Amino acid sequence: MSELNKTPEQCYIVADRVCKSFGTHQVLKEVSTSFNTGEVTVIIGASGSGKSTLLRAINRLEPHDSGTITIGGVPVTDNEATLQKQRCEVGMVFQQFNLFGNMTVLDNVSLAPRRIRGLSREQANARAMLLLTRVGLQDHAHKYPWQLSGGQQQRVAIARALAMEPKVMLFDEPTSALDPEMVQEVLDVMRELANGGMTMIIVTHEMGFAREVADRVMFFDQGRIAAEAPPAEFFGNPANERIRAFIGRMS
Ligand code: ADP
Ligand code: MG
Repeated sequence: MSELNKTPEQCYIVADRVCKSFGTHQVLKEVSTSFNTGEVTVIIGASGSGKSTLLRAINRLEPHDSGTITIGGVPVTDNEATLQKQRCEVGMVFQQFNLFGNMTVLDNVSLAPRRIRGLSREQANARAMLLLTRVGLQDHAHKYPWQLSGGQQQRVAIARALAMEPKVMLFDEPTSALDPEMVQEVLDVMRELANGGMTMIIVTHEMGFAREVADRVMFFDQGRIAAEAPPAEFFGNPANERIRAFIGRMS
């Protein structure tokens, strides 16, 4: 089906000529693409190429200068009511887990559903326990973040994002801050999510994961999408020498 014929439900996030500069430095240069429902996109590219800025623009953590981003057909703007709804639909997981250090794991996961969704403590806790079970941390619910390993903390961060029942999950280098032996447990949780049909946009340097889990790999180069293709094609027959060199460095 042509992209143009897709409904907002199918073409869940659409970026159209998105530009963003910091001072005189243009970081996103007319980025146009769409992220389909149920699709797993892995974004790769050199440090500073604009990957995080695109994810942050989708979530309005960083307003873009021109062009449009739509989520389910609704433009991302500063309208507070719309933004709150969109942030419920879009879960985000960061490199630094950003857990609330003074709260238990259970409270980290159940807080937003109580505050924003209005769930009772019992409802929110029951749902949080299901999610913690899903990420293998049901026995750690009453611990504090500092009592957990980095891999466990990142799994809590994923459970916390899922607690809002998002339609899409954004991951910005979720394993880059982890000790090597903890990378796999986080990738395993992400693979499960992908297998369950979650729409995901993942910035990562984990090439093996990209090959295995991505429906599409996107290569950012100096603020532009320089190539996008299914992983077999992307890795098997790189579109140009810069991509070939990048893959070589990462593998
Ligand atoms: P990537 O995630 O691909 O490494 P980023 O999107 O984080 O790249 O950053 C792209 C460029 O924008 C970098 O040169 C970075 O230094 C710059 N940049 C990002 N955020 C800011 C900011 N808040 N203020 C100024 N420059 C920024
Ligand atoms: Mg980044």
